[in-house]
Amino acid sequence: MTSQFYTTPIYYVNAKPHLGHAYTSIAADVATRFKKMQGCDTFFLTGTDEHGDKIVQAAEKENTSPKAYADKISQLFQDVLPLLNIENDYFIRTTNPDHIQVVQSILSTIHDRGDIYFSSYEGLYCYGCERFYQDRELVDGKCPDHGTEPATIKESNYFFKMSKYQDWLVNHIQSNPDFIRPKQYKTEILSFLKQPLEDLCISRPKTRLTWGITLPFDQDYVTYVWFDALVNYISALGYPDGQRFKTFWPGTRHFVAKDIIKPHGIYWPIMLKAAGLPIYNGLNVHGFWNVQGSKMSKSIGNVTDPVEVTAEFGVDAFRYFLMREMVFGLDANFTEDAIVARINSDLANDLGNLFSRVLSMNMRYFKGQVKGTDPELDGQLSLESAAASAIDAYTAAMENCRFHQALAAVWEFVSAMNKYIDTQEPWAMAKDETRTRELSSVLYQLMEGLRTVAGLIFPVMPQTSKKMVTALGLSLTDKGGFCLEKIRAWGQVPCGITLSKPCILFPRVAVKKEAAAPVDRPFKPALKEEITLEDFSKIDLRTGRVLSAEPVKNSSKLLKLQVDLGAQTRQVIAGIAKTYSPEDVVGKEVIVVANLKEAKLMGEVSQGMILAASRKKDLILSGFDDAVLPGNPVK
Ligand SMILES: [Zn+2]
Repeated sequence: MTSQFYTTPIYYVNAKPHLGHAYTSIAADVATRFKKMQGCDTFFLTGTDEHGDKIVQAAEKENTSPKAYADKISQLFQDVLPLLNIENDYFIRTTNPDHIQVVQSILSTIHDRGDIYFSSYEGLYCYGCERFYQDRELVDGKCPDHGTEPATIKESNYFFKMSKYQDWLVNHIQSNPDFIRPKQYKTEILSFLKQPLEDLCISRPKTRLTWGITLPFDQDYVTYVWFDALVNYISALGYPDGQRFKTFWPGTRHFVAKDIIKPHGIYWPIMLKAAGLPIYNGLNVHGFWNVQGSKMSKSIGNVTDPVEVTAEFGVDAFRYFLMREMVFGLDANFTEDAIVARINSDLANDLGNLFSRVLSMNMRYFKGQVKGTDPELDGQLSLESAAASAIDAYTAAMENCRFHQALAAVWEFVSAMNKYIDTQEPWAMAKDETRTRELSSVLYQLMEGLRTVAGLIFPVMPQTSKKMVTALGLSLTDKGGFCLEKIRAWGQVPCGITLSKPCILFPRVAVKKEAAAPVDRPFKPALKEEITLEDFSKIDLRTGRVLSAEPVKNSSKLLKLQVDLGAQTRQVIAGIAKTYSPEDVVGKEVIVVANLKEAKLMGEVSQGMILAASRKKDLILSGFDDAVLPGNPVK
């Protein structure tokens, strides 16, 4: 195959980019760069999904229009790409007029072919998911994603005859072993398809939702967000007549997280089949990143911002960690300790030391000049076959999205080179004038090994790769990347040239020591002036329970709370909206400053204050170890 199309999902613009988005994008970027190294023509697509209820609600919260809101969040996703060194060829937005036209044309085609029908329907609807649920899909009668009970609603809608294609899809998945990878997700989809497949409701009446793409055959309806979103994969290629569509479809590898496997593994192939289009090649499904052992969530405060991690550790180290730590398909755990351990051990110690050791020895023994290898000694000293095995193992793993294995194969070769130095003892050769040829051969083998490593790590760590190649006196060709076949050709570091002093590839990261002996450090911010017990006793602290909460208009920081203080209910305006959503705080027991003079915040009366600890930009509510009744004094 000479051309390959890679995609991330288009990200829903109801939240800013987090670690999960970064992982999918980086994985797809790594796969694309690798494919380029194999000499393939590639096209890499990412973008944002911008229609639907949730966007309308999020925009209302910020007192802005859905389009303005989508513009803002979409821009955040676009801004992150260069920071993560992601080289996408195009960024699609579902509000683009071109895209809207393609969605309507696909809807018309499927409608004309008789696979869309109009029917009245009563069903269980989750507003959070913007979709109807079957009984059997619910967990204890609740939405599996939101944990809320779906509402029963009745309306007339358009339905897509998915049931008609069930047998075809099962057969397609079974006869194309690489269609859904890794295997466990193929099994999951096939087991879901053992039950009769329901037809998909693909419309929403405009009486309920207008922020969407109008059905070409009924102006009173917009289409379901997933029907809109999935079509991006062909609208971005210029379907139906664009050259890119002709070149790249259906040679496609979609990358998605496991929570959106059904739309991609069931709706999408059936939509394509019903529209008379060829089916994409493959779906690659990955697991979730937990942070410090738990699922990322706003209320725990562990939603990880990839931009912050990159700023702290560097983009290459971040990309390496993500690709090395997660087994593609399974969940993985993100902690600062884990990333620091990977940087210090794999990057600084194994690779970084090897690199600087080899170039420093060459500097010390030959004033930086590359002396080359002695053909007579090659048989016993050559690292060529070890490098070739590493390339084979790496290639096989990369083909199957086993990024962690591919990197492990490279690092096995790095360890072999470190061991080679220890057994060859070049420092002993340097003391013996008769062994100069041996010494130069050993160093040349190591430089060639480093050149190989530099090529293989390119998809994951492009910056480091370029640094290494430059330090070895080579220049980057092949459109800024590498050709896998050329990496394999042994003997490319030019003899006779002089290399300069090596740079440090990865500085070690200082390990933060926990629970170290207490040291007196100044408080930040500084402690306030001392007060007496009598002063303190003037503050009347009470236990309270939050009865209800809602955002304060025009403010992204404030929540308006009704707090039960036992004898009375108080309205308190609290600056916790950046950390907590209203649902998060209802029912919480809090500490209230009950005798604080009434004040107005953003036009709202606040009768008291709630205690919270600051943590970076967040505020974390204080609470109690055990249940308490509202109104009790806190001492
Ligand atoms: Zn839901």
